[in-house]
Amino acid sequence: MLNLSQKEKNILIADPAVLAIPIHENNEPLIDLITQKEIAYGPPALLPDNTNYTKMRKTVYDKLKQAQAMLPQGLKLCLYEAYRSLELQQIIFQERYDNLQKLHPELTHEELFIESTKFVSPVINLDGSKNIPPHSTGAAIDVYLIDLEGKVVDMGIHLDDTYNDLTGKYCHTDSQAISAKAKEYRNIMNKVLQAVGFINYPTEYWHWSYGDRYWAHQSHHKFAIYGSV
Ligand SMILES: [Zn+2]
Repeated sequence: MLNLSQKEKNILIADPAVLAIPIHENNEPLIDLITQKEIAYGPPALLPDNTNYTKMRKTVYDKLKQAQAMLPQGLKLCLYEAYRSLELQQIIFQERYDNLQKLHPELTHEELFIESTKFVSPVINLDGSKNIPPHSTGAAIDVYLIDLEGKVVDMGIHLDDTYNDLTGKYCHTDSQAISAKAKEYRNIMNKVLQAVGFINYPTEYWHWSYGDRYWAHQSHHKFAIYGSV
């Protein structure tokens, strides 16, 4: 398990240090979960409709299977969303920004932008340069735990409800606002995903990646291996 300092733990997806990481695209194909039965998926995110959400890079898929095999009896991983197009990413980012603006009209554009990036990666950065959102690379996965009947276990807040948690109080991976049981489920999931090399985005307990720039930065790799697909 990686031992990250507090500064590294809280670094944002659009941090200049992350954006500076070069990408050596390895052209690995996307695997679509609808072609397999080992990793559960769905129902998809409510809005907007992402018809490609079950796609991810092959190594990401292989690692998910390895992680799932390490889970205690009675638990499985369930994919909420993996691949997301740049068009869809832009819509989601704007929604987040608009919602925050309604709640905090006193904030400047820069403040709203940075606040939005805590939950959604931008398509265009604050300085106007192009970003490569993790979900557009097939490297990022949003996952949670289910029981063997496919029922969602208590992870503190379900992904469908996170838009109501604008402060991120319940979303932060190490949230202290959730029940002891939910903390336990998060710890179980963290352990197996970290063990196979995934990196978590600390403001979202469900968001993990392997091979993108955030992963490279947090795990001290010199370059990322997946760019936008
Ligand atoms: Zn995500």
